Amino acid sequence: MANKDYYQILGVEKGASADEIKSAYRRLAKKYHPDLNKAPEAAEKFKDINEAYEVLGDDKKRANYDQYGSADGPQFQGGAGGFGDFFGGNASGGFGGFSDIFSDIFSAFGGGARSSRAAERGEDINVAMRLSFDEACFGVEKIISFNRTQTCAKCSGTGAKDGKAFTTCPDCKGLGRVRIQQSTMFGTTIRESVCPRCGGSGKMIKERCTECGGKGVKKVPAQVRVKVPAGIDDGQTIRMRGEGNSPAGQGIAGDLNIKITVGQHPIFRRVGSDLLFDLYVPFTTCLMGGKVDIPLTKGTKTIELEPGTLNGTVLRVKGKGVKVLNKEAYGDILVTIKSEVPKTLTKKAKDALKNLEQKFDESDYPKTKDLKSKIKNLNN
Ligand SMILES: [Zn+2]
Ligand SMILES: [Zn+2]
Repeated sequence: MANKDYYQILGVEKGASADEIKSAYRRLAKKYHPDLNKAPEAAEKFKDINEAYEVLGDDKKRANYDQYGSADGPQFQGGAGGFGDFFGGNASGGFGGFSDIFSDIFSAFGGGARSSRAAERGEDINVAMRLSFDEACFGVEKIISFNRTQTCAKCSGTGAKDGKAFTTCPDCKGLGRVRIQQSTMFGTTIRESVCPRCGGSGKMIKERCTECGGKGVKKVPAQVRVKVPAGIDDGQTIRMRGEGNSPAGQGIAGDLNIKITVGQHPIFRRVGSDLLFDLYVPFTTCLMGGKVDIPLTKGTKTIELEPGTLNGTVLRVKGKGVKVLNKEAYGDILVTIKSEVPKTLTKKAKDALKNLEQKFDESDYPKTKDLKSKIKNLNN
């Protein structure tokens, strides 16, 4: 699906406007609609046209397609990065505009009954998955269980007993289309339209399938193995194509959308692929410098603080953050130094500090001195 050229299918330029795409779609959909075009390749073309429009007719999907060659954005297998939150709560979005145009076409051609079997698609299923901080960092494989509708094997989705207990539709005599006589102010008109009784199939179920009761689908428990990629973040959604509900009758299954929530880490705050945290160290270490241990996603690392490290200094430990989704790259760990001072001082400690204080003069505090003179100049 990713390799189809949707622009070519709709016969428009890459930079075509939304209106141009819409009108190209309408023109082609009318031309190849299976109810209007009985050529053997029409149904396949019609499917392609709908698929192309489902993507190009939706700004977000089109942007993803332009950038990544897929409406879903970067694929897990692909090298592209930045798996954004483009699914975010909008799983079935974009289908709205699609069906609007559909009903337009049907009303333009009389009828209004939907026999658009070629475009039928099962519903998406949305599930939630909770990951630990480490699972999101390093990736994990999980099996999720849920229920979904599946095409009934016994009747091949037809709903008829053994898939063959049909009878010819009495209304259209098997043609799938009926003529409707209408009186209008211009006189009597006769329109042809999709047979409402059989939905255009020309057949009716004589005896229902015992397995699915005539629905053509059954709710069945499903288990799907999900490969959660390393670097996935809270709020992102994994879409698994075709793992959702199967539609009644012909068509493709919907998608399974797995919304990810990620648990907190006791120390790190995650921002994209970077990990942030505050490293508290005794003020004497900041003053004199020394070794400090910092946590990593796995294990720890000793780093050397320079003498005279200021409170609030940010140190960057390159490449030790979280893996960037779909890329062989890692974020950084950003350590903010917090110089901790004792809240209370013993008399002995206070005396020692007083003694220490006298060992320094103005020249040891150049920034303090500079600021003082600036303030003084302001007042003059
Ligand atoms: Zn009929
Ligand atoms: Zn059945």
